[in-house]
Order: sequence, then structure tokens, then C-alpha cells
Amino acid sequence: MKYIDEFRDGVLAKKIAARIVREVDPRRHYHLMEFCGGHTHAISRYGIPDLLPSNVRMIHGPGCPVCVLPVGRIENAIQLAQQAEVILCSYGDMLRVPTHRGMSLLKIKAQGADIRMIYSSTDAIKIAQQNPQRQVVFLAIGFETTTPPSAIAIKHAQALDLTNFSVFCNHVLTPSAISHILQSPEVRQLGWVPLDGFIGPAHVSTVIGSRPYEYFAEEFQKPVVIAGFEPLDVMQAILMLIRQINEERAEVENEFTRAVTYQGNLKAQHLVAEVFELRRAFEWRGLGSVPYSALRIKAAFSDFDAEKRFQIPALSIADNKACECGAVLRGIKHPKDCKIFGSVCTPDNPIGSCMVSSEGACAAYYSYGRFRQTA
Ligand code: SF4
Repeated sequence: MKYIDEFRDGVLAKKIAARIVREVDPRRHYHLMEFCGGHTHAISRYGIPDLLPSNVRMIHGPGCPVCVLPVGRIENAIQLAQQAEVILCSYGDMLRVPTHRGMSLLKIKAQGADIRMIYSSTDAIKIAQQNPQRQVVFLAIGFETTTPPSAIAIKHAQALDLTNFSVFCNHVLTPSAISHILQSPEVRQLGWVPLDGFIGPAHVSTVIGSRPYEYFAEEFQKPVVIAGFEPLDVMQAILMLIRQINEERAEVENEFTRAVTYQGNLKAQHLVAEVFELRRAFEWRGLGSVPYSALRIKAAFSDFDAEKRFQIPALSIADNKACECGAVLRGIKHPKDCKIFGSVCTPDNPIGSCMVSSEGACAAYYSYGRFRQTA
């Protein structure tokens, strides 16, 4: 299959691995963070750590949209869905994320709440059109990749003059999270790992382009290589990072040129800028309150803002005490460091968000059995 098979070629993977082995400096350690959960899954699924020298360590980052949503916002969604007039529309992964009290959207759906699993934001619009007597709320989550469809839904609802549709906006931003990991005293206090370079996200970068990463490459002197999700993409990105580190360069390089440009998708960026604006701060699971790291709906579209329509309160709720998701999301703990990983907490019975999502680090390590080799 075009753009798939040629990026999964085992012979080529071994050649890149041999080059990595030749080029690493045995006297130093390389700590490389893959920000995005999609990369964490590729790394686990294709056994990439087994091809790397022991002084090259891959560290998973917080780039899983379901994982980083804090318990308070999930509790908000649960409380919304429990209102008789509300139909809550959500992407599938969110339904299974447990709160501190063991509840989830799926559990309250079983108790009678009207929660609909949708595949796109336009599904929520259709549900609103079909149910004019009910209030339809779209639980919008995700990084820059899923923000344009939410903007489209809001503009579409405005054009249709829908009075029973609103969006509970939880969209978050990648570059601010990376900066926060690198500089925040709060993150350092919570626990921190040294980082020498980043594999930049694939899908997010198709929207925002490679330009936004230049700030922290320069400011924090950390190289960034944007990579696709196939195993050869990731291997090549690791080689490019090692070369930058060896040459003491800190630049933004783009391995994923078949999809990512310097400017990104300007049409999508303009659409997002028309509908959304920056929040002063937003709480992330694992990272705490991160300045200017999320979006809210602009006043011009406030009729479609569920936070305003339902006066949703700000709730700050700690994770389940047994769950190490916060430390896993900061990269300081490995999923297998969690005492209940694979025993009490499994994809069938997730205790934390990192075991729920298809992009979560715990789900990746559990699904592909990497933990068995390192246990
Ligand atoms: S194994 Fe489960 S409880 Fe432990 S950190 Fe991962 S998601 Fe949280």
C-alpha cells in the first residue's frame, strides 16, 4: 500500500538501526521524548526500543488527548450528561475514562443518561437537528488536529441558527505543553526527566506546520524532528535527533515532509482563530495548570459555548491515588512502574486514562507486551 508498505520495510529498518548504532556516542546518554501517543504506539508495536543501543532512551510524553484531560473536566461532563434535557455527544475513548470516584460517562449512560458516541463533530449537529426539544452538547477534546472540526461545527450551528447546540471546549495546544515540560518549576517539583530532544507530532504538525516548534528549539536548545507514524519514520527521526545532538545543533527538522509543511494548513489555522481564543491557563492531567495551553470559544460564538450556557464550574480533582498517570504523562515513570499495571488496571478495566485511550502509554505497553521484556 502506497505510503504504508515502504515505511514498514524491515530490511531498511535494520539498516537505519545499524547507522544509529554506528553514530551514537557510547560516552553519552540520549533521552528522546516522543510527545505524541501515536508515536508511543508505533514504538511499542514495532519493537523499536529493541533496535536501539542501551544509551538511547525513548520517553513517552503527554500527547494523548484523552489522557491529559483532568478528572475535573470529566466530572463536569458527567454532571452535564446527568441533566435530563441534555444529550451529550462524545468521541468513543472519552466514555471509558474513570473519575476519582470510579464513575465514567459509560457508567452513567448505563444508568440512563443520554450519551451518544459520535465519529465526527457533524454527527452532533445532526443529533441537534433531530432533537430540537433537547440540548445537545458536544464534548470537544483534542490537540490542534481535532480543533478545526469543532470550529466547523460551531460555524455550521450558527449558520443553521441552532439554539439547542453547544460545545464543551477542552481543546489543548502542543507547543505550550512542550515548553511547560521544559521550563515549569511545578513540573520540576512533581518530578522531571532530562530531555535531549523531541520527536514532534505528525497529525498536529500537518495543521500547525513546523514553524511553532522553532521557539523552544532555540529558547531551550533542544532539537525537534517532526516524524510520521510509521516505524521507518520514527527510526529516521531518532537518527536525525542523534545527529543533531552529536553536532550540538538544536533545530527543527521535518522528517514527515510528505504531509507537513513549514506553514501548516493556513485555512484550518484561520478557521480556528476565527472561533477560538487562548485561555489564560488550563489544567492538564500530570502537568498541572499550564499557561496559555488551551482554547476557549470567542465571545462572538458564545451562544454555542456550553461553559456559558450551563455555567459549568471549574473543578480541580485529584486522580485516583493508586494511579500513576500523572507521572507517566510527564515521562518520569514507565507504565510498568505503576503497581496496578496489568493486574487491577487493564484495557478492560481501566483505572486511569492512560489505559483507556488508543494513544495512551499504558495501553500501548499493555497491548504490545513490551512490559514483559523489561519487567
Ligand atoms: S496502569 Fe492504570 S492506574 Fe497505572 S498509571 Fe497506567 S492507567 Fe494509571
